[in-house]
Amino acid sequence: MDYVSTRGHASQQRFCDILLEGLAPDGGLYLPSRYPRVDDATLTRWRGLPYAELAFEVLSLYVDDIPAVELRSICARTYTREVFGSPEIVPLRRLVDKASSNAAAFYLQALSNGPTLAFKDMAMQLLGNLFEYELARRGESLNILGATSGDTGSAAESAMRGKKGVSVFMTSPHGRMSPFQQAQMFSLMDANIHNIAVRGVFDDCQDIVKAVSNDLEFKRKYRIGTVNSINWARLVAQVVYYFAGYFQATRANTERVRFTVPSGNFGNVCAGHVARMMGLPIDALVVATNENDVLDEFFRTGVYRVRSSADTHETSSPSMDISKASNFERFVFDLVGRDAALVRDLFDRQLREHGFFDLSAHPAFADAARVFGFASGRSTHADRLATIRDIDTHNAQVIDTHTADGVKVAREHVAGEMPMIVLETALPIKFAETIVEALGRQPERPAGFEGIEALPKRVVVVPADVEAIKSLIVANCEARV
Ligand SMILES: *Cc1c(COP(=O)(O)O)cnc(C)c1O
Repeated sequence: MDYVSTRGHASQQRFCDILLEGLAPDGGLYLPSRYPRVDDATLTRWRGLPYAELAFEVLSLYVDDIPAVELRSICARTYTREVFGSPEIVPLRRLVDKASSNAAAFYLQALSNGPTLAFKDMAMQLLGNLFEYELARRGESLNILGATSGDTGSAAESAMRGKKGVSVFMTSPHGRMSPFQQAQMFSLMDANIHNIAVRGVFDDCQDIVKAVSNDLEFKRKYRIGTVNSINWARLVAQVVYYFAGYFQATRANTERVRFTVPSGNFGNVCAGHVARMMGLPIDALVVATNENDVLDEFFRTGVYRVRSSADTHETSSPSMDISKASNFERFVFDLVGRDAALVRDLFDRQLREHGFFDLSAHPAFADAARVFGFASGRSTHADRLATIRDIDTHNAQVIDTHTADGVKVAREHVAGEMPMIVLETALPIKFAETIVEALGRQPERPAGFEGIEALPKRVVVVPADVEAIKSLIVANCEARV
């Protein structure tokens, strides 16, 4: 399998090359040169597989430069009951949907029972094992530099802690994460994990990471890498749970389902798009946004308009607070028939010059719904509170704020009796303040997380200054060339 850039750069890469890389050399994102099709017989064979084996089957179609026995062993070590809390790994829970009084089976798919209680563990845990394998094979090491406002950082640190050949330098805005999220990251005592609290906001952290990565000399010398959401290996790991969700909600391959996905950077729902392109019978992929509705606006109007940081709202579903959706370029590439010259013009020239592009007059725009099955909706703080209360009342379940955005939007997109699956992207304990606002009580704390806020913390606080971060890397890094 070869990988191509959405902006048309000529060099074709293989899986392990792009595993350790971020953007393509032309600034585009990598995608497979074609989507492998999964036929009816294959779906039938996959239906009965345990999750780790299903992951191996899906990944095998995209990875041909890791021997099968190794890839199988990596999947088996990653997706265990011990790490993800249940033998199904991503079980469905049926909800009684009193609010929309429809006949459809309405499900939550639990993706948040990994070590850091958000769906990012599903991909990041695999990435940790893939990185360790590939770095050992090359005899190399890597310093991962990242910026986080919460879920990504803790998932990355949990996946990389103690891994040979990898160090993590994770910047976060000082004092802005919830006490639970701070405790999750800062209580890790592993020698290869470095928490850096930056006196500034999340955008300052992102700017620092960009500045360091743009210093090519430094980047090469100190072997700087990333694990952000544009990483293809993360995306393909997420494809697996769409298959697993479909198999649990249906009995036969003739049945179709809908998925609703709480969305920010478009990584999660893009994995659903890939699953659908492979032939999984998905009728619709519903993109749910919060008040930061860049994506909902696109699917309603054809206009993709990135927001300034001043126009980006701080909401009670903070992991969806985005000003632009970093994975969206992948979908647009497919939408416009893989016209790389057009994608380059849209994402490079038009966004830079005007801050938006408008595909409403392009013939492909109608295909977003008709051919690619996309729909969208938006949820607000008031919707979130009402949905959390409603699910608590009628189902005796507490859902997190991002999942609540998904449920709210999913209810507007139910079709007849077709199953609707909402992806549960985090557990409520991570966003306890809003749960208390909605329900007047604390969410349940999963076993093993009692009192984590009181644990000793390992974090250095620095000014929002590129040189300060560089010195920290130089002093603590895993490797230099
Ligand atoms: C990251 C995240 C999202 C958004 O996922 P994308 O892949 O960026 O669209 C939604 N919910 C939670 C809890 C997250 O951590």
